[in-house]
Amino acid sequence: MSRKVVGITCGIAAVRDEQRPQYVTNRAYVRAIEQAGGLPLILPIVEETGLLGRYLGLIDGLLLTGGPDVGPAIYGEEPHPKLGRVDADRDLFELPLIRAAVAQDVPVFGICRGIQSLNVALGGTLFQDLPAQLPSTIQHEQSDAGIPRSQTSHSVEIEADSRLAEIVGGQQMMINSLHHQALKKVAEGLIVMARAEDGVVEAVEDPDRHFLLAVQFHPEETATHDAKSRKLFEAFVEAL
Ligand code: MN
Repeated sequence: MSRKVVGITCGIAAVRDEQRPQYVTNRAYVRAIEQAGGLPLILPIVEETGLLGRYLGLIDGLLLTGGPDVGPAIYGEEPHPKLGRVDADRDLFELPLIRAAVAQDVPVFGICRGIQSLNVALGGTLFQDLPAQLPSTIQHEQSDAGIPRSQTSHSVEIEADSRLAEIVGGQQMMINSLHHQALKKVAEGLIVMARAEDGVVEAVEDPDRHFLLAVQFHPEETATHDAKSRKLFEAFVEAL
């Protein structure tokens, strides 16, 4: 069987010591793509933007993974006191990569930071910290409540006329929630296709693209035991 190649974004972390930065991505993303029938290929952050086109030539689809906050200067804001860690090198690499992928209609599936970086890359803005800027009874950072990543913690309401509803087979979904930021101004071209009860954007799509879908939650952490999460990866790989 000839598997389609899914480029997976990664981060940079000093896992073992400060002097030795390493490329890192969660194994759950790679496993979810592999189990959905794709060939996972982690794309290391490089500095030459001329190489982005080569990366896109190697892959059939692009998976945007979770990670640190996008630098607010990119969407024209001063840093909020509750802004989290930012990785400028990752932003400099990832945002042009996303723009090029969208321009070439390479299928894109964004997760967590992935919905945020997609939105910023296309001209949108973010809430820099939900608890500070959009107080809610919903705990969007479930780890603060001690809930494991693999467990769901709140529901989302999905638009009937959306690819997401079609994929998961309904307008309700229980999801895990591991974010302190969310979309504020939604970029032109993206349409909100799911929200939490408090209005927080939980999924966007561009229906005019071959496959351009992003979610605020983490289906890669629930794909092993939740059919709807698994279907998201299967639909992405099938679209390649
Ligand atoms: Mn949430």
